[in-house]
Amino acid sequence: MMTTVRADRGTELTAKQWSTEAALRMFHNNLDPDVAERPEDLVVYGGTGKAARDWPSFDAISRELKNLEADETLLVQSGRPVGVMRTHEWAPRVLIANSNLVPDWANWPEFRRLEAEGLTMYGQMTAGSWIYIGTQGILQGTFETFAAVATKRFNGTLRGTLTVTAGLGGMGGAQPLAVTMNEGVALCIEVDPHRAQRRLETRYLDEIADDLDSAIERCLAAKAAGEAVSVGVVGNAAEILPELLRREVPVDIVTDQTSAHDPLAYLPVGVSLEEWQDYAGAKPDEFTQRARESMAAHVEAMVGFLDRGAEVFDYGNSIRGEAQLGGYDRAFAFPGFVPAYIRPLFCEGKGPFRWAALSGDPADIAKTDAAILELFPENEQLARWIKMAGERVEFQGLPARICWLGYGERHLAGLKFNEMVASGELSAPIVIGRDHLDCGSVASPYRETEAMADGSDAIADWPLLNALVNTASGATWVSIHHGGGVGIGRSIHAGQVTVADGTPLAAQKIERVLTNDPGMGVIRHVDAGYDEAKTVAADKGVRIPMEG
Ligand code: NAD
Repeated sequence: MMTTVRADRGTELTAKQWSTEAALRMFHNNLDPDVAERPEDLVVYGGTGKAARDWPSFDAISRELKNLEADETLLVQSGRPVGVMRTHEWAPRVLIANSNLVPDWANWPEFRRLEAEGLTMYGQMTAGSWIYIGTQGILQGTFETFAAVATKRFNGTLRGTLTVTAGLGGMGGAQPLAVTMNEGVALCIEVDPHRAQRRLETRYLDEIADDLDSAIERCLAAKAAGEAVSVGVVGNAAEILPELLRREVPVDIVTDQTSAHDPLAYLPVGVSLEEWQDYAGAKPDEFTQRARESMAAHVEAMVGFLDRGAEVFDYGNSIRGEAQLGGYDRAFAFPGFVPAYIRPLFCEGKGPFRWAALSGDPADIAKTDAAILELFPENEQLARWIKMAGERVEFQGLPARICWLGYGERHLAGLKFNEMVASGELSAPIVIGRDHLDCGSVASPYRETEAMADGSDAIADWPLLNALVNTASGATWVSIHHGGGVGIGRSIHAGQVTVADGTPLAAQKIERVLTNDPGMGVIRHVDAGYDEAKTVAADKGVRIPMEG
């Protein structure tokens, strides 16, 4: 059944307890038209990342979550509810496995064959695990990344610099705002005018230029004036980026967030927007080949800017790998963003901590924002983010917030929120989760675990241990996925969501989950030999049998 989906708000339960009500609301919230990119197809974000396999599965998951008892667990296999088991109160209410394939079969053609048979679905990271909160989710990570670029190359600010990127989709749409929050100028290439328009409406993008000439003129004037502005231009990145290079536009930073991880979601040069879906569906192999050739041209231009001294990085969409398959041999000349900027944070167990207000009341998030500022007064970057987010971020679906917190911090925030629910300061429970892109929850050699110090990039035991430890610690739902942002065959990752319903039991679960979950990040990086992680482990008492 195709229907408009929106999460319930308020304090009235349709499920039997808050833990299952929370899963139900977050599942529905993922498909809210204000949240999802293509809700009619159950697609939440990231190309084809879905919340449920099909509409009958959607109905069955909704029904089961309403009926589930506090000692039962729903099993979801790639978006389809396949069983309900008697477990116990500390067990997760939902266990999810999405898109997993045996390694020798883990390639796109086999995945698509199985998907076409109705046997699997693509779960992305937070689509199939029901904790996507719209573009804000990545805005924070993108803000952190551009702040790190500014620190590394531009004296701590992007003022007076021009960043060029492409893709204004669910995740990529965060780029213009993240750049302007760091005081820079962003030129964003997007092939679909509706996507660009949507970012304008949500105030993530400031302007859309009529054509490339006026876009360049506007950006260079802003760069010279030190004005922070973001400009969208409609066109194909594989044509526009080489053109910018040819015209010798003085670009300082280049990255990309088209859906390059899935060649069918990247529009090749010479194919119109109208032809896209039919062509990709009818001739996937030919389309893939053409997309990869275009990505080769796109990445060749990125390397051209690198050669001219620009700061260039892969923003986690596998475009280097696809360009290499498209025949361009210098694709890996520039690094991925994790080794370049994020790994030191991972060593501290830092990562994207997020929460949503099940009440639907933005005032609840404002109160949690204030609580975060009070809890961590010494963290200036956190304060800058929370204040700017409060002013600039439009909520999509249930009001939500994200900030990066580390080991020893996350559980303090979770316990505080639980107290605020218990005291009635917040009008309904809060769900606390995170992206699968976190310090100890993912194996992804082109992204989160690229260039690990000990060469352990492809070891996938860590995300599995992460899911197991969260299950054992009292998380409300736990997921293990394959593919995510980098595509089939390239990553294994896990997620957890834990409900703060104000009860003492929730407090016990929160303390364990939000200690052990980032703790996985610390031990993973200690194991790989990072001194920063060893210091954190020693200072904070993380027990690591093979150390000391
Ligand atoms: P999306 O599918 O919602 O958006 C991609 C956008 O790219 C679309 O708007 C599409 O029209 C546009 N596009 C496609 N081909 C193009 C071309 N040739 N020229 C210009 N625009 C083109 O995807 P998303 O959710 O925004 O994710 C983007 C990518 O980032 C994905 O590969 C995703 O896996 C990856 N990702 C990265 C991170 C990270 O932390 N860095 C996190 C999540 C996802």
